[in-house]
Amino acid sequence: MFDTLSDRLTAALQTLTRKGRLSDADIDATAREIRIALLEADVALGVVKTFIARIKERAKGAEVSQALNPAQQVVKIVNEELVGILGGETRRLNLAKTPPTVIMLAGLQGAGKTTLAGKLAMWLKKQGHAPMLVACDLQRPNAVTQLQVVGERAGVVTFAPEPGNGVGDPVDVARRAIAEAKHAQHDVVVVDTAGRLGVDEELMKQAADIRDAVNPDEVLFVVDAMIGQDAVTTAEAFRDGVGFSGVVLTKLDGDARGGAALSVREVTGQPILFASNGEKLEDFDTFHPDRMASRILGMGDVLTLIEQAEQAFDQQEAEKAAEKLSSGQLTLEDFLEQMLAVRKMGPIGNLLGMLPGAGQMKDQLAQVDDKHLDKLQAIIRGMTPAERDNPKMINGSRRLRIANGSGVTVREVNDLVNRFFEARKMMAQMAGRFGF
Ligand code: GDP
Repeated sequence: MFDTLSDRLTAALQTLTRKGRLSDADIDATAREIRIALLEADVALGVVKTFIARIKERAKGAEVSQALNPAQQVVKIVNEELVGILGGETRRLNLAKTPPTVIMLAGLQGAGKTTLAGKLAMWLKKQGHAPMLVACDLQRPNAVTQLQVVGERAGVVTFAPEPGNGVGDPVDVARRAIAEAKHAQHDVVVVDTAGRLGVDEELMKQAADIRDAVNPDEVLFVVDAMIGQDAVTTAEAFRDGVGFSGVVLTKLDGDARGGAALSVREVTGQPILFASNGEKLEDFDTFHPDRMASRILGMGDVLTLIEQAEQAFDQQEAEKAAEKLSSGQLTLEDFLEQMLAVRKMGPIGNLLGMLPGAGQMKDQLAQVDDKHLDKLQAIIRGMTPAERDNPKMINGSRRLRIANGSGVTVREVNDLVNRFFEARKMMAQMAGRFGF
């Protein structure tokens, strides 16, 4: 589905790889290419605008990375933003605390709801659930039979109104189905509802009535990813008319441009839970924003390389630090770097909470608050590179200058320098003991 988009994005990003440094003009040019690629893929204009603005802002403001070259950095940013518009974290199905969990399917006719009901049933069965399908699409001729057929194929029970009972009332069917599910101990109920060719009020009202009758844990809006921009307007209509808690994209195996898939989460604010990519019941899986993003970028290998480069760089840094530790050559510059690296992980209090078995050290550690760290950071920043490299040269007059420059007392500077020497000595001893 995303072939053309993939090709264009790859081409846009590849022009960067030959550059050593990226100017703002380079970034603007790449952003322009990405913008055209997204618009041609039918991604909603608003989504494209936000996306491009964020890419530009982040790429221009990116700190120089020692692990990645500029082109890799931009690829990394584009990938992260793509994951973001696709919803970030994988969203799992909400299961009710007291069964049965009720999942209602809503969407236009032909979106793939009935097929999805079968796919979901099979998927749920594999996860150890005992699902039941409910035929509430009493509008489309054959819809009930079709659901019974997919139910049989998936090996699950289908609850349907008796044949020859006229058109029937879907709300009544839904209600009776829930009672039956409780009675027969089905822990998940999947309710198939009627769709129309277009959005209309009657359709919305019926879906809303069924919703009120069954009080679903999830309302899944099922949308055909091949319908392009219409997917977004349909999604908005269903959001306002029925409301939904998640999206299922179908027909991702088609050769349409795929923009709908990229827009629907951002436009509706609801996550994509599943994706269907074929007519068979197996052609279905949980939707993972990160996997989808790397598929769209068509750069799985490059992204792995980027990850490895970053890890290798961290590893190199760690080895360098360990070497310095054991030889007692740790400088204040290293100390500052370590401190910044740790702080990137979040407030120090949270980190302490994660330390296993910190035991009696915890009280002591608890006194290290973020303000204190800010101060230490300011003091080290107030030193010259030569002083950070060789703290022994920090004599009385230098201490006074540093104190004045960083807005602290000389005593605080003394404290830091003395503690640093103590820590360095202790670390060298420990390093020797642990054989770094
Ligand atoms: P409903 O009207 O929403 O219940 O839609 P159906 O489940 O009847 O599906 C409409 C058509 O789309 C059927 O021919 C399905 O076989 C087909 N279909 C459903 N999901 C997919 C999919 O993921 N990929 C492809 N290629 N076809 C699908």
